[in-house]
Amino acid sequence: MQESFDTYQSLLYSLDRAAALLGLEENDYVALKYPERELKVSIPVEMDDGRIEVFEGYRVQHSTSRGPCKGGLRYHPEVDINEVKALAAWMTLKCAVVNIPYGGAKGAVKVDPYQLSKAELKRLTRRYTAMILPLIGPEKDIPAPDVGTNAEIMGWIMDTYSMFKGYSVPGVVTGKPVDIGGSLGRREATGRGVMLITRETLHRMGKPVLGTTVAIQGMGNVGGTTARLLELEGCRIVAVSDISGGIYKRSGLDITDILAYLGSGSGNLLSGYEGDGVKHITNEVLLTLDTDILIPAAMENQITLEIAPRIRARVIVEAANGPTTSDADAVLEKQGVTVVPDILVNAGGVVVSYFEWIQNIQSLTWDEEEVNRTLEKIMIRAFNDVWDSALSDKIPLRMGAYKIAIDRVVKAKKIRGVFP
Ligand code: GLU
Repeated sequence: MQESFDTYQSLLYSLDRAAALLGLEENDYVALKYPERELKVSIPVEMDDGRIEVFEGYRVQHSTSRGPCKGGLRYHPEVDINEVKALAAWMTLKCAVVNIPYGGAKGAVKVDPYQLSKAELKRLTRRYTAMILPLIGPEKDIPAPDVGTNAEIMGWIMDTYSMFKGYSVPGVVTGKPVDIGGSLGRREATGRGVMLITRETLHRMGKPVLGTTVAIQGMGNVGGTTARLLELEGCRIVAVSDISGGIYKRSGLDITDILAYLGSGSGNLLSGYEGDGVKHITNEVLLTLDTDILIPAAMENQITLEIAPRIRARVIVEAANGPTTSDADAVLEKQGVTVVPDILVNAGGVVVSYFEWIQNIQSLTWDEEEVNRTLEKIMIRAFNDVWDSALSDKIPLRMGAYKIAIDRVVKAKKIRGVFP
């Protein structure tokens, strides 16, 4: 991973470029360059051996212009404040592009969650929740899962917050287990959104879905679900990877078998996967494979200036947040690669988080069919908005998405005015 400073620089670069396209004055959007609030916390945790270890955590609220803050919580050993600031700002833009009534936020703890016992992870999560308690709440800021966190962790957040309040508050966090107010379809929502956007992109390009070759970097919740759903649509998934490296099979990998292997609970990684005709490759080779579509579904800054000239896929669908650096983006643009941007592609997660929050605050439950149908409607509408905006202004899709998002946020800011 490159320095996370680049992540924030990439965001500012895209923001300035889109603002110029919109003809905005610096005054109109300057506030968007700064998060509204940043909280840094120190989290002491009693480890199983009796030692006290102190972890660093953050919650950054980028914008409340369009509604309460919304955004995930990341547990990762290399996370830092600049990365969290960029991720929070992307949440503001993501919620605006799909037109759901939220601003953006992001939280993180600098920790490798896989090195902690479950009891340690639970104590860390409860203490982190207590430390950020003044900032969060169903009408203020609603966390959700991100890299390194999951439904169980969201359940601990819900319980901790509820203990402080003295009553159950399911709407304080989304991506919870279904038994305590989580939404059906939430776990798969980001991957389902990626599949929908990939399918719509192919339709708009006049290309068939059947037989389209796809390489996916990352086999976590997002990459894994995307692989499975695209395979169901008739795509040929020729390569996938995780932190241990990638696997490749020209005639198509058996995704069901791979997911069963990875999910068997023994911490299996792809480096240990064996299958008929399956070759092991590096992550770099995966990114530069000759496929129709490349889907980065791991971390930021994977497609760099160094990698970009060697990319052979004609379409990149950004399932991760910020996988392409801004200098690499310029190279891809020159090469005529269609880059479908993260703030549109991976918005399915936060869209179903919105449905979960709606269900929680109204004490309602939706069935999975309703969740998936409404998700599809929102994703396709946002996709068409972005595609049409890019087409009519002859700009890249990322700029089309930023234009729509910034326009919505700036409009809200203007209507509300600057306090006092
Ligand atoms: N962490 C996810 C994202 O980056 C989901 C956020 C949410 O559901 O609030 O979009």
